[in-house]
Amino acid sequence: MRAASPSRSGGQWPAVRFSPDMAKVLVIEDNPANMTLATFVLESAGHTVVKATDAETGLSLAGHDQPDLILMDIQLPGMDGLRATGILKGDPKTRDIPVIALTALAMKGDEERIRAAGCDGYVAKPLSYKDLLATVAAELGKQEANTM
Ligand code: MN
Repeated sequence: MRAASPSRSGGQWPAVRFSPDMAKVLVIEDNPANMTLATFVLESAGHTVVKATDAETGLSLAGHDQPDLILMDIQLPGMDGLRATGILKGDPKTRDIPVIALTALAMKGDEERIRAAGCDGYVAKPLSYKDLLATVAAELGKQEANTM
């Protein structure tokens, strides 16, 4: 007599509860090198990556996919990342998703501008593996703490 066990031949496993160790991260970034680096860093840490190369696509994916975190490039073709963040933070469906800005801007006042737009944090470019990973982990940790 054998204990019932889930079939391993096809079919979906039950949905797994969110854990900070395994998050779905939406990356909105038009620069291919930065996208490659961000994807590598996130996937190495065990996260799933959803990609968009412009703000309009990113907004649509944020609503449909409900990511746990969004990495938002500020300089995007068409709508910029600050405006896109403002839209996300004004929509009840997406306003609780933390947004980390990816910014090449390093002038005084930019952090205030980024925070004012609704971003929860930022990582300065050129992106470093260490900075990106630490900021993502800190943001997901905060999110987990909020649900307890
Ligand atoms: Mn860009």
